[in-house]
Amino acid sequence: MYTIERKTIVETIKDMFIDSAYHLGEDFVNKLKSSQEKESNQLGKSILSKIIENQEIAKNNNIPLCQDTGVAVVMLEIGRELIFDYDLEEAINAGVRRGYMDGYLRKSMVKHPINRINTLDNSPAVIHYEFVAGHQLTIHAAPKGGGSENMSRLKMLTPGEGEQGIIDFVIETVKLAGGKACPPLIVGVGIGGNFEKAALIAKKAIFRKINDQAENEVDQLLEEKLLKEINHLNVGPMGLGGETTALAVKVNSYPCHIASLPVAVNLQCHSARKSEVILDGKKIENSN
Ligand code: SF4
Repeated sequence: MYTIERKTIVETIKDMFIDSAYHLGEDFVNKLKSSQEKESNQLGKSILSKIIENQEIAKNNNIPLCQDTGVAVVMLEIGRELIFDYDLEEAINAGVRRGYMDGYLRKSMVKHPINRINTLDNSPAVIHYEFVAGHQLTIHAAPKGGGSENMSRLKMLTPGEGEQGIIDFVIETVKLAGGKACPPLIVGVGIGGNFEKAALIAKKAIFRKINDQAENEVDQLLEEKLLKEINHLNVGPMGLGGETTALAVKVNSYPCHIASLPVAVNLQCHSARKSEVILDGKKIENSN
């Protein structure tokens, strides 16, 4: 069996949140740049230039890309040969606390949705677990902004509404969001499963690489159709017009009940901060 020390988890999570709050991924920046070159709306083009300039200033000065440094979302893929003799969730939250304090990131979490007292350290994180083969721990971390999250939606369609129903719902969601979700967007779409599974796979969709494609052909075609339709809406960068409303649409699907067709749309703003780290487990002496 294998393990990873608590302090490694705490340090890694801390660094991931600081790093992702300050830097956008290179592939994402390249996508912004190519969209800026193609954008024909002059205001849209100029907003994209400002977004590109903003990320350069953040990177060069080690300051957050946006004042909203989000909810700390952590997705874990845990190798089945790993064991932890401590509370993994507590270690992750300790890393989040350190990252938000040491990185001077805005603390946006409140203890209760009704009485709304700030936790003052941005904990707790929203954590998802998955078990995989091997003895590595893959950590995906993202500070998820509130503006784009607030404009995300879920609907339980009937099977008869089919693909067109899915398209209509996604388009309606992007239209309703307008500038409030801070486009250009990554549109994460989860279809199938049940109520909570659709939301989870939509969230996972925004963690996918900006230039990848869905695993199966049906989802790939849907991604292409949706991207085309979304970029015809004239929402544009920050909702002020243009054809760059979305940089990518990511569709994830899952089997579902004969009577159901759940659809979830998770919107990711242009401050698409995320980080991925793979930690190798250390072999425990005298273990099998
Ligand atoms: S939606 Fe994104 S870009 Fe807009 S304020 Fe929130 S984090 Fe910043």
